[in-house]
Amino acid sequence: MIKGAIVIDTERCKGCAVCTEACPKQVISISKKVNGKGYNYAEAVKEEDCIGCASCAVVCPDGVISVYKVKL
Ligand code: SF4
Ligand code: SF4
Repeated sequence: MIKGAIVIDTERCKGCAVCTEACPKQVISISKKVNGKGYNYAEAVKEEDCIGCASCAVVCPDGVISVYKVKL
């Protein structure tokens, strides 16, 4: 079985939320916390549901999401 995992560079995230809309599994949510630039950043809240489809990484205008596929 293949599972996905994502890493978000939260310091470079602008909180635009495009990735939260793009994810078919609602893995990503915008945090109530802010990064060093004052943006509410994206975070993986249900990473166990990630299927590694990379939709989030494709739509992110700043390319701050990395997607990994993990073999279980
Ligand atoms: S890789 Fe796919 S399932 Fe995983 S967080 Fe990104 S959009 Fe969602
Ligand atoms: S699409 Fe990119 S910049 Fe926008 S909230 Fe998601 S990770 Fe942050």
